[in-house]
Amino acid sequence: MHTGDSFDDLVSHARDAHVAVIGGGIAGLVAAHEFAKVGIATTVFEASPRLGGVIRGAELGGITVDVGATSWRADSEAVNSLISELGLQDCVCAPVVDTTWICDPAQGWAAPSPQESVLGIPANPWDESVRRIIGWGGTWRAYLDRLRPPMTIGVARNLGSLVRSRMGAKVHDRLVAPLTFGRFGISPDDVDVDVAAPGLNGALTRTGSLSGAVSDLRVDHRTAGLSSLEGGMLQLVTALEQRLRDLGARIHTSTTVSGVSRTADGRWRVEFDAESGDAELVDGDEPVGSTSLTASAVVLAGSRESTERLTRSILPRPLEPAMHPAVLREIVTMLVDAPALDAAPRGAEVYAVPGETGATTASGVVHQSARWEWLRRAAGESRHVISVAFDGSADAHPSLVRGDGDLAEFARGAASDLLGVSLDARHVIAWRRDLFTLERPSTARGHAEESARDRRLVQGAGTLSVVGAWVAGSGLAKVAADAVEEADRVRRTLLWGAEGAS
Ligand SMILES: Cc1cc2nc3c(=O)[nH]c(=O)nc-3n(C[C@H](O)[C@H](O)[C@H](O)COP(=O)(O)OP(=O)(O)OC[C@H]3O[C@@H](n4cnc5c(N)ncnc54)[C@H](O)[C@@H]3O)c2cc1C
Repeated sequence: MHTGDSFDDLVSHARDAHVAVIGGGIAGLVAAHEFAKVGIATTVFEASPRLGGVIRGAELGGITVDVGATSWRADSEAVNSLISELGLQDCVCAPVVDTTWICDPAQGWAAPSPQESVLGIPANPWDESVRRIIGWGGTWRAYLDRLRPPMTIGVARNLGSLVRSRMGAKVHDRLVAPLTFGRFGISPDDVDVDVAAPGLNGALTRTGSLSGAVSDLRVDHRTAGLSSLEGGMLQLVTALEQRLRDLGARIHTSTTVSGVSRTADGRWRVEFDAESGDAELVDGDEPVGSTSLTASAVVLAGSRESTERLTRSILPRPLEPAMHPAVLREIVTMLVDAPALDAAPRGAEVYAVPGETGATTASGVVHQSARWEWLRRAAGESRHVISVAFDGSADAHPSLVRGDGDLAEFARGAASDLLGVSLDARHVIAWRRDLFTLERPSTARGHAEESARDRRLVQGAGTLSVVGAWVAGSGLAKVAADAVEEADRVRRTLLWGAEGAS
């Protein structure tokens, strides 16, 4: 195929092509949409009974709540244009409360995270909002940053060591670490300064101090706010599914892809195990009882582990195992009747100062119904939806080891500490637990390099592609933008051959 092909040839290439998308989370659905909307036959396989992956809705005490992802970065072009394409723009909403608090349950204090800060690093250590958290000792130590000569050797990449060395342990432990652990499940030492706060290093050299650099950067580096959908994020998944079906895509839920191999003519054989009772499999092109499909391109949109397994025999060398063990995030979502929460005493979210011995309690609580007005209305008077997050590895996790009864009490205790409101069993109308893997953000140190390496390896196979949070970095904005880009590359390869992709 050549770029000189006629328009009719292109249309016929599109008609002949068939793309298999493995994984029905947002990455897989967005990629599938990119193929289906130009008339390429598309089949989506999803192992679980429902689409959406981390975008998960559930019924709790009679209302529908998001138990996984709840929002996206308001400045995300990829998500915003998807929302418009799907006609959901009228449902978009902004938080009514958006303050973040920091709390140290062990020491018994809580305070709002200082407004004038970048990544938690304060612009002015003497500001009352900062001093309240780090004390006089911490403030004097942070002030030394203004007196010390700026770093002259290269640029700092490690956020943790940069903050500790310039402004001291208290700024690191109490202002920066709660945010990196609470939001992304990683330590400040794992955050790449240049990716997380582009321009901070340059401003540091220019202004001569870290707090000066933060002030400088704040001028044109306001953090983007959040957007969500009235009625819940699951609407995005439902609308995408409907659009895909309207475009003729086939979607198989409860169907796990167990193998991918090359066919003699250079296409891909996709083998799958359908759970019995999945009627959808018998009404498509695939023969009744079929357990494989031949596709001209494959998009792997599952977890890193499933992608490693499925690509083992088709890549020149296996994908390297993840350098960092995945963080397991268990979310306990509760509907509580607690008038004491009406005034949103700890804003929209409150993150815990991490303990010295690792995570032994919750890393944070999001007061969902304080943040989203539609949810406050849905919950009803004096009722509140809160999500308590517990993070850890499989072998050292604060909540996974607990049975349901034990966990309910544990989560109530953690929520009471972090929200500063006493919640006992009588307050809880309904609750549920959901387990997720929290992939590293694109701001994690080494992520860009690892991701580029994995991408190069997979892209070498031309019509094979990997998308999803493990390779794009966690977050709907990153995942959606990356899936559009990757789908475009594969689409061009299908239509114009290898040179079309470059
Ligand atoms: C608790 C939590 C809250 C979050 N909140 C937010 C938020 O508010 N805003 C935000 O921007 N980001 C948030 N994130 C991050 C964001 O939600 C994720 O980065 C994104 O949803 C990941 O999408 P994905 O498609 O890559 O993966 P997933 O959603 O995990 O989807 C992968 C899918 O592939 C399927 N699959 C895997 N292997 C196979 C196979 N072999 N065959 C068939 N199917 C397979 C899985 O069943 C799964 O459904 C949150 C993350 C977590 C964990």
